[in-house]
Amino acid sequence: MSRMPSPKTTLSVTSAMPALSASVSATLIGLYLCATPQPVFAIDSAILSSTVNACDNFYGYANEVWAKTATIPDDRSRWGTFSEIKERNEKILKAAMAEAVASPEKFPNPAIQKVATYYASGLDTAVIEAAGLSPIEPLLQRIAAIKTTKELPLLMGDLQRLGFQAGINAGIASDAKDRTRYLVQLNQGGLGLPDRDYYFRKDAKSQETRIAYQALIAQILVLGGDTEAVAKTRAAAVYALELQLANASMTLVQQRDPKAVYNKMTFAQLNARNPGFDWSAYFAAQKLGSPAEVNISQPLFAKAFANLAQKTTLADWQSYLRFHMLLDAAPKLPKRFEDAHFAFFGTLLEGKKVPRPREERVMEDISGHYGEAPMAEGLGQLFVEKAFSAEAKAKALAMTQNIKAALRERLQGLEWMQPATKVAALKKLDAMALQIGYPDKWKDVASVNMVATDYLGNWMRSNAFNNDWWAAKLGTPVDRNQWGMSPQIVNAYAGEYNEIVFPAGILQPPFFDAKADDASNYGGIGMVIGHEITHHFDDQGRQFDLNGNLKEWWSAKDNANYKARAEALVKQYGGYMGAGGVHINGRLTLGENIADLGGLTISYMGLQRSLKTNPQPDLAGLTPSQRFFLSYAQSWRDKSRDEAEIKQLQTDPHSPARYRVQGPLANMAQFGEAFGCKPGALALRPANERVVIW
Ligand SMILES: [Zn+2]
Repeated sequence: MSRMPSPKTTLSVTSAMPALSASVSATLIGLYLCATPQPVFAIDSAILSSTVNACDNFYGYANEVWAKTATIPDDRSRWGTFSEIKERNEKILKAAMAEAVASPEKFPNPAIQKVATYYASGLDTAVIEAAGLSPIEPLLQRIAAIKTTKELPLLMGDLQRLGFQAGINAGIASDAKDRTRYLVQLNQGGLGLPDRDYYFRKDAKSQETRIAYQALIAQILVLGGDTEAVAKTRAAAVYALELQLANASMTLVQQRDPKAVYNKMTFAQLNARNPGFDWSAYFAAQKLGSPAEVNISQPLFAKAFANLAQKTTLADWQSYLRFHMLLDAAPKLPKRFEDAHFAFFGTLLEGKKVPRPREERVMEDISGHYGEAPMAEGLGQLFVEKAFSAEAKAKALAMTQNIKAALRERLQGLEWMQPATKVAALKKLDAMALQIGYPDKWKDVASVNMVATDYLGNWMRSNAFNNDWWAAKLGTPVDRNQWGMSPQIVNAYAGEYNEIVFPAGILQPPFFDAKADDASNYGGIGMVIGHEITHHFDDQGRQFDLNGNLKEWWSAKDNANYKARAEALVKQYGGYMGAGGVHINGRLTLGENIADLGGLTISYMGLQRSLKTNPQPDLAGLTPSQRFFLSYAQSWRDKSRDEAEIKQLQTDPHSPARYRVQGPLANMAQFGEAFGCKPGALALRPANERVVIW
C-alpha cells in the first residue's frame, strides 16, 4: 500500500526526478548582490548570447553560451539547474551520512542513526553479493507454494505491504469530496513499463521497447533460477497478463479528470461490482480491515483485475508475482540483477551510459526520487540543519505573501470572470495554506528495525512501516499539515488541502538566495511559488474549493470562458515538437502549462509590487524586469538525452524545460515590454493570439 495523494501537482522537470555536476556558480546565473554596504553586482556578461536575439528566442539568448559547453554526464539522462541543485544537496547529505556512519555517537537522534544504518547496508556490496536471493527467498517460496488463485488476495496484500508491485494498488488518501476524513483508495497498477500506452503505441521505437521488455522479463527469471526455456514461456505469460491490465487501464489524460477518478462506494458495493477477488483478505493483509467505504479510481480496471485474478491460471500469476518481486528488488540485489535492470530502465528508456556511483544510488533510494520516502526523515532533518536558515524561511515567506497579494489584485481585475465566482476565488486564495522548508512534526521512525547487513530487508521493513503508518490513520481526523515530500527534495507541490509546499531542497541557489538580488529571486523561486499557487486554479485545481473539496463553485459562463482559454493553451503547446519528432501532449501537460503561465505572471507582478517599496537599480545594464526574465530562463535551462525526452513527452505532465520558458513568454506582453520587442518578434505570439488566464 502506498499513500495516494490527490490532486498533487508538482513543479519538477520530470516525474522521475532525474539526478542532477559541477557546483552552481553564482556568476553563472548572475544577478547576485553581496550583502555588503556597497552592493557588489557580479554578472558574467558572457552568459548572454551575442548571436541570439532576446526577442526572437529568449531561451537561446539566456542559455546558448551555457548550452555550448554543458555536457550531460554519462550517468545522467539530463543536465541543468535542477540537476546542479540536486547534486549539491546530495553532496551535503553524503558527507553527513559518511560522518553518521563513522561516528554514530555524534548523532543521538534515532531517525539519523537508522538512516545511517540503512545507508551503510546499501554500500556493503560484499554482503549483498554473498546473500544472493536469500532476503526474499521465503517470499519466493511462498509464491511458489500457493495452491489456488483463492490465495492470491492475501498474498498480493502482503507483497504490496512490503513494497512489491502486485496487480492493483491500495492506499490511503483524504476523501476528495470531504477532506476531513481519510478514505481507502484503489488505483490501477501492475505494469512493468512506465505507462499503459507503452503496450499499444505503433511506432518503431515503441515496438523495439516492447521486445526488449519481454527479453528483460525472461532475463530476470533466468537470473532468478529458471532455465532459458522455462523463462521464455513464463515471460510470455507475464507479458500477456500485463497487456490485459494495460488494456483495462485509464490513460494519463483520462486520469487528469478528478470526477472520473472519484467513484466512492461501500465495501458491499465494491464486492458486488468486482466479484472474483477476496477484497477482505487483500485489505486485511494491508492492515486496512474491511473498510466501510472505498474509492475506486478506475472502475473498469478494478473489474478487469478481479476477473483476471479468477480466470488467469495460477501458474501465470505465480510467474507474474515472481518476476515483479525480482524486478522491484533488482537494484538492491547482486550486481547481475542491477545490471539487467539498468540496461533497460537506465539505458534503453533514458539513454544513460553508466549507472550512477553506488553511494548516490543508495542515497536516492532512501531519499525517494520525488515524493515521500518512509526512511527519509533522518535525511531531511540532517539536510535542514546544514542547508536551511531562518533567514531563508522569512524571506521566502515574505515573497509568498507578495505573490499571493499580486494574484489577489489580478483576480479583482479579471475581465472574464463573473463577480460571484470572483468572490469564491478570492476566498480560496485567502484560505490557501503555506508550508516552507520542513514539517513542524517529524514521523517517529523509532520502531523500524534497520540491520547493517540487510539492505533489501531494510527496504521491505521501511515499506511495511510506511504502509502501517498510513493504515493506522484510517478513521482518524486528517492531518492537514502532513507533508507529502521530503525536505531535501528539489521540488515543490500544491497539495490536496488547498496548500502549497516548498521543501528546503528547492529553496537553494540559484532558485533562491536570501542574499541575492530581488529580481533574480522572483524569476527563480518566485515563479515556483506562483506556479504552485496557480495549480489550485489550473484546469484540475479549480474544481476544488477553499477546503480542497471537489465541489462546483464556478458559474456556467465562467466555466465556458475558462475552457476556451485553456483550449488555446492546449493548441499552443501541442504545436511544440520535442526529441524523436514527438509533440508535446497539450492535454496531458495542460495543468502544468497553466501553472507556468500564471506563476510567471503573478511572480512578475509580485516583483513590481516589491519594487514600489524597495526600488532596485539597473545592474550591468539590465533592468530589474530584464533580470527577472533572465533568472527564470536560466533556472529552467536543461539538456536531455533523446531517450529521456521522449519518455518525458509520453509520460510526464511537465513540458520539456525549453518550452516551459518559450511557452509562457510567448503569451506575456510584460516580457516584450521589458526587452523592447517590436511587433512581429518571434518570441512573442501576435497580441490577438496570446493566452491570458490568471
Ligand atoms: Zn506543477
